Amino acid sequence: MIVVMKPGASKDQVQHVIDLVREYGLKEHPIVGTDRTVIACIGDKRAVDKGAIENAPMVEKIVPILAPYKMASTEVKQERSQIEIGPEKFPIGGPKVGIIAGPCAVENEAQIMQTAEAVKQAGCIGLRGGAYKPRTSPYSFQGLREEGLKLLAKARDATGLAVVTEVISVETMDLVCEHADVLQIGARNMQNYPLLEAAGEAGKPVLLKRGLSSTLNEWLLAAEYIINGGNKNVILCERGIRTYEDYCRNTLPLTAVPELNERTHLPVVVDPSHGTGHAHLVPAMCRAAVAAGADGLIVEVHHDPEHAMSDGAQSITPAAMVGLMPVLNRMATAIGRDM
Ligand code: PEP
Ligand code: MN
Repeated sequence: MIVVMKPGASKDQVQHVIDLVREYGLKEHPIVGTDRTVIACIGDKRAVDKGAIENAPMVEKIVPILAPYKMASTEVKQERSQIEIGPEKFPIGGPKVGIIAGPCAVENEAQIMQTAEAVKQAGCIGLRGGAYKPRTSPYSFQGLREEGLKLLAKARDATGLAVVTEVISVETMDLVCEHADVLQIGARNMQNYPLLEAAGEAGKPVLLKRGLSSTLNEWLLAAEYIINGGNKNVILCERGIRTYEDYCRNTLPLTAVPELNERTHLPVVVDPSHGTGHAHLVPAMCRAAVAAGADGLIVEVHHDPEHAMSDGAQSITPAAMVGLMPVLNRMATAIGRDM
């Protein structure tokens, strides 16, 4: 349920309500808006004496939260969440569209440093690159692991780009946090609840990809695990879903973007690389994602896609990225945003 305070309620009056809801064993999440404060109360409401709370000074009303995900819902918070990432604190979810680009996997120092410089020059705000790769086959390249993380940190120091990299286990969470600016939780791990809980405690923004066959509800409930664990900095990433269609690796449902923008205040980023699986489809889907209202894109870029150690077929070149950026900028301008 949500306790809506009247405009002008004092800190002490808000605290009084918090003390009351705690007495009933609920966990409180106060949200201070420009106009008024609301307190989302999560937990078992059966024993709650709603009248007692409703009669507390400066309480306007109590409303139920109908969505199964609570803290992620626009019922609790209408204002869009802006999540600052990287050394330059770029706000994902604000008026600007942020582009994150880089290879699927960190392969060696020269590759990641060159790519970082190239995507920075292109105007991107983040560098992606997997150090721990969740591969379908155990015989595929699994990533440079700790060495890859160190190379990503070096690339950040050289460029100021926000480093986005995947964490695949609870055991490596601390190590990844040491080097990453944004923790990516991949499609395969979207419902790995211990990992989501660990991300809740990690203190770094999380890019939560949609599971291969997950519904929006399941995805938002996964986000709720992270928020409930204490980390409200969750960015959702639509990366396509598995369908019967086989001309592309996944089907990229861009309808998810406006639908999510109604259901949640969390920023939404689109990954047209995994969403299509083919480099020739990536630029059009980048444009379409911006037009649909995505807060950002995450794009796989490789200087030599034919020889990439993973996901070469869906990687565009740095030159293609450079060519795409002004087009995306115009798309953003057309819908009242910019880059
Ligand atoms: C990736 O970003 O390289 C990746 C493995 O993504 P996903 O989890 O969406 O498959
Ligand atoms: Mn990839």
